[in-house]
Amino acid sequence: MTDVRIRELDWYLRDHLFRQANKGRQEFEQRVLPSELVKTYLRYRNDDLDQISQLVDIVVGNLLHQLVIKKKDVDSFELSGTLKRLQCSKCYYVSILAEAEEIACLRCNSRTLDEFPKKSIKH
Ligand SMILES: [Zn+2]
Repeated sequence: MTDVRIRELDWYLRDHLFRQANKGRQEFEQRVLPSELVKTYLRYRNDDLDQISQLVDIVVGNLLHQLVIKKKDVDSFELSGTLKRLQCSKCYYVSILAEAEEIACLRCNSRTLDEFPKKSIKH
C-alpha cells in the first residue's frame, strides 16, 4: 500500500462524501464505500475491490483521526461538520477540507485558497 495510492483515495473519498452530503446524505456505511467508489469514479472501475477496501479502511481511520468524520455505529460514520471545496491560488489543486482542519492546500500547503468553483455572476 503506497502513500500515493492512499493520498489519491483520500481525495476521491472526500469528494464522494462532499457530493453525497450536498445531496442530503448524513450517514455512511464503511463496508459499502468501496463499491460506491468503483461505481462513481472511472479511476477505480477496473481496480480490485479488496484492495480498495484496504485503502478505504486506512483513509477512514485517518479521517476519524483528523476529525473530518466521527463514528456513528460500529460500521458507520457521519461528517463532523460541513466539507468545503477549495482551490489553491498557487498550484490550482482542489482540496476538500472539513471545518476542523487547517485551511491549507493538501498539495503545496499554501494558505491562499478560493472557493471552488468560483462563484460567477449569473447572466
Ligand atoms: Zn497548492
